[in-house]
Amino acid sequence: MLRRYEDQVKVLLDQMTTVEKLGQLQQLTWTGDTGPGGGQTAHIEAAARAGLLGSVLNIHGAAHTNALQRIAVEESRLGIPLLFGLDVIHGFWTTFPIPLAQAASFDPEVARRDAEVSAAETRSNGVRWTFSPMMDVTHEPRWGRIAEGCGEDPYVNAAFAVAKIRGYQGADDGSELTDGERIAACAKHFVAYGGAEGGRDYNTVDVSEQRLRNHYLPPFKAAVDAGVATVMAAFNTVAGVPAHGNPHTMNTILKEEWGFDGFVVSDYTGVEELVAHGFAEDGADAARLAFNAGLDMEMVSTNVTEHGERLVTDGLIGESRLDDAVTRILRLKFALGLFDQPYTDEAAEITGPTPAARETARAAGARSMVLIKNDDGVLPLERTTPSIAVVGPLANSTDLHGTWAGPGGFQLPSVSILDAVRTAAPGARVTHAGDDVAAAVAAAQEAEVTVVVVGEPPALSGEAAVRSDIALPRGQEELIAAVAATGKPYAVVLLNGRPLTIGGWLDAAPAVLEAWHPGIEAGHAVADVLFGRVNPGGKLPVTFPRAVGQIPVYYNHENTGRPAHVPGADPKFVSKYLDLDETPQLPFGHGLSYTTFTTGAPELRREEITRDELAAGETLEATVTVTNTGDRVGDEVVQLYIHDVAASIAQPVRRLRGFERVTLEPGESTTVRFRLGAEDLGFWTNDPAGTYVVERGRVDIYAGTSSTARARGTVRIL
Ligand code: BGC
Repeated sequence: MLRRYEDQVKVLLDQMTTVEKLGQLQQLTWTGDTGPGGGQTAHIEAAARAGLLGSVLNIHGAAHTNALQRIAVEESRLGIPLLFGLDVIHGFWTTFPIPLAQAASFDPEVARRDAEVSAAETRSNGVRWTFSPMMDVTHEPRWGRIAEGCGEDPYVNAAFAVAKIRGYQGADDGSELTDGERIAACAKHFVAYGGAEGGRDYNTVDVSEQRLRNHYLPPFKAAVDAGVATVMAAFNTVAGVPAHGNPHTMNTILKEEWGFDGFVVSDYTGVEELVAHGFAEDGADAARLAFNAGLDMEMVSTNVTEHGERLVTDGLIGESRLDDAVTRILRLKFALGLFDQPYTDEAAEITGPTPAARETARAAGARSMVLIKNDDGVLPLERTTPSIAVVGPLANSTDLHGTWAGPGGFQLPSVSILDAVRTAAPGARVTHAGDDVAAAVAAAQEAEVTVVVVGEPPALSGEAAVRSDIALPRGQEELIAAVAATGKPYAVVLLNGRPLTIGGWLDAAPAVLEAWHPGIEAGHAVADVLFGRVNPGGKLPVTFPRAVGQIPVYYNHENTGRPAHVPGADPKFVSKYLDLDETPQLPFGHGLSYTTFTTGAPELRREEITRDELAAGETLEATVTVTNTGDRVGDEVVQLYIHDVAASIAQPVRRLRGFERVTLEPGESTTVRFRLGAEDLGFWTNDPAGTYVVERGRVDIYAGTSSTARARGTVRIL
């Protein structure tokens, strides 16, 4: 894809010394430190001047990046431009909902628009590379980084990763990367980072080949097919071998099997960490192992620049490996147009969220929300309600962006829910109480309806923000109970970066809206849904457990030989907990609306399909009819799952193979069409060389509006 620049790369490569080549493999972080001797700033400038630096992260601002770029381009021997990178995860100025929330929209367009707005803002600030999207499938709600990915399903993660990459990069062939509003993307973290034992960040991941290939790799494969420019290695081990030094995942699968022609960047000091992993003896050993395994650029730690020359001289890193890594990095620099236009137009810099970008983020926020419960029709609220109490510790918060927000951590305030309710219901008397339970109860007693805003402040999710208990933070359940005890109607708004254990108070709550961390327009997006300006249509992209002791609990698990809930099974000896129902609190795919829908069984055009037909590209068509049976326009997400009932590797009880979010007027029906091909009906075996099989036998196909869908069709593969 990026190979069209091969001639230019070659001309340059031929002029480079070994040290200059090694310099391209180095990325340093900008800290702004100008301490003794000029500090780290002077160090970076000197490296740029000497042509011994490929990339800098954590720098932004057109003037700022231009100044450093000028040194590399105008003062170094070969004038190779620097590539600036930054974590723009769900927005630069304009923060969108966290990625987990975006996944809940089940509308990849939400992610594409986020990426497009982010790319324009980022590029205008001198940065042409984001470390996004993250596509780490995870079954671990304790893990704080669940907020950054798209949940527990590989298919959803793949769909959103592709949408995001297209939003950042444009066309799959990389031809739009030179456009003034595009940036390079980075698929991370390669691979299986979400499998961390106990949900503890950076922890061990012991994974079989089939699980690696069926659960963790598919989003990365989809990203590579969509032309992702770079891939970031993961901090964890993969079946005992740290991802940063793993030739099986980087060299064999990513580069050889998939033909990835971009470059692999380490994670922050990830090369150095090979020593702590107990995999490398020292820094030189770490550099040797990482680069020979297929890593191309070292972030922050400096082992390759410190030891590379000796490693090359001693033949421990081959010249051709070095040239390959440099080639990959230069390819992207050419593809981004950095050689022609290394600088950024300072006059055109975007210095804050535009009204149009805010509108897009607001719509994304509302589209990402999931109506978990609405028993007595408490929601939507009437704009004409005379009095509304907005209570709870997060009711007046202006920090609702979620993890990784704002350039370099600098954040503009997000719109608070309290302010937004006041704006949305200008005629109402809107009262507020924060943490104080007595004040909240008093406010609830005097109001027609109460909105209880609870959840996790953003610092409780994200990198290294792991919780062993994922209930609402202390005091919040008591607050809900106290409001409930007033006997007045109330709705709970949840703001969180992960699934929570919400069992205790859920039964009694009349209405619950899962709003996640909605971004800069948080309050407006929540108010849009609360007052019915937007009819919620999101679905959970993760299972909500009943208790921490039930984790991992996820929809696409395998059955045991003794599943519970099978008629006739001896209840004593089924797979269960003595003290907890083994079903989740809320299943993957769940979400309600202010209207109602019926979804028909999947209709299959044929009862049989042969493996030859599938291999030749034929597909099995399944249609599902969905009808809005209520009295409001609304969205439903039609979901299609399969289950291969008997296979040489036991298959998940359900696997999502398609989804579509449709909007229907009251009484309107539509038929959604899914096509299942070989890539949907087969699976990867345990063969390390990579064997994908479509086996003979019966496959059940389920359609519905959550992973518990029962309407079934059946096909036989011959
Ligand atoms: C994270 C990456 C991130 C990098 C650079 C690391 O700690 O794991 O996801 O891109 O830092 O900020």
